[in-house]
Amino acid sequence: MIYKSQKLAKVSYDIRGPIYQKSQEILRSGESILQLNIGNPAPYGFHAPKHLIDAVSSQIEKAQGYVSSNGIDEARTAIRDNAEKQGISGVSEQDVYIGNGVSELISIALQVLLNPEDEILLPAPDYPLWTSTVHLFGGKAVHYLCDESSNWFPDLADLERKITPKTKALVLINPNNPTGAVYPKELLEKMVAIAKSNNLLIFSDEIYDRIVFDGVKHIPTASIDSDVPCITFGGLSKNYMATGFRAGWLVVSGKKHFDKSFFDGLDILMSMRLCSNALAQLAIKPALEGVQEIDELVLPKGRLKEQRDFAYEKLISIEGISCVKPQGALYMFPKFDSEILDIENDSDFVFDLLTEQKVLVVQGSGFNWKKPDHFRITFLPSIDMLDEAIGKIGQFTGKYLKDRQAVTA
Ligand code: PLP
Repeated sequence: MIYKSQKLAKVSYDIRGPIYQKSQEILRSGESILQLNIGNPAPYGFHAPKHLIDAVSSQIEKAQGYVSSNGIDEARTAIRDNAEKQGISGVSEQDVYIGNGVSELISIALQVLLNPEDEILLPAPDYPLWTSTVHLFGGKAVHYLCDESSNWFPDLADLERKITPKTKALVLINPNNPTGAVYPKELLEKMVAIAKSNNLLIFSDEIYDRIVFDGVKHIPTASIDSDVPCITFGGLSKNYMATGFRAGWLVVSGKKHFDKSFFDGLDILMSMRLCSNALAQLAIKPALEGVQEIDELVLPKGRLKEQRDFAYEKLISIEGISCVKPQGALYMFPKFDSEILDIENDSDFVFDLLTEQKVLVVQGSGFNWKKPDHFRITFLPSIDMLDEAIGKIGQFTGKYLKDRQAVTA
């Protein structure tokens, strides 16, 4: 028998896990499903800006060969300029690395950093790729709590309690997936101060940095203090509705804290996979320097804002469900009230919702949230689809109402 490596023992990715596989089976059988499970804009009718499509399609001839492993010059310069505009100072083109999406760069950066048993602080709930990748490369994921009763902001006392001599880095996801929290400046200042006083590297995943609502401003972590070692992640996937391009980047700031060996490590891993998709890299400069179509979508009357508002109101009208209104990203992380609803296992709930109502969401435990009392939806679908899907969620949770069970018993 051929077995999978033990390295994979703690690796999971429930967003495309067994329940998602079941949904694919249902779809293959010809039934349709209302899919609220994944932050992939294209299937919901969002398009990458036309000037990006043109940049790619008109330059395909240029993208036939391998290009520089760390990324093409024009894109690295545009990313550097963008970082500077965002207040991240002291960064040169050499500190910019382009990959096949942020996903690949998370993998590369963690591989470069981690020695066995090194601890990485991650938010709970988190985007689960982070936790799984830490485990895959031999590190230990230690989760600090984000506090639902405080807009899902990180609980700093919990975070500080979890720092040990083995802690190497602090991961922030801002705007956050799955909670939609956007961190205010004072909170970021405190987090940066904690990292600084404990000599931690910061990984700041800012892939949703332009998707913010209600006039809230996103503040890049690295702009708080250019003297702190920070690796900021961004890309085309979400802000430019181009998930399939697979184009992301990382920017290293606070460079004086990195030994040359760290950059050697990045260079070797980047060069071992030769280069990232050359065609998609041609869209980076036009994306960063052109009109930001996303800005319209998040403003009042913009499609994303309207859908967020609609989904939120409809969700919280369901008996037994509460939700912190997200201020950024593409998701909501609603909670079941255990006093009202008799739901003991979030995965079973999500599986049954799929098979009985043909609505697909993701269980909260898939985001390293320990209690089985949450689930995640994306508000990318149209209002009609959100209406139907959340309506069905409401009907379905009705059968878990404790009062109703008491009456029928
Ligand atoms: N980081 C976060 C927080 C995400 O939500 C996602 C995708 O959903 C990624 C990274 C991966 O992005 P990419 O498409 O650039 O690999």
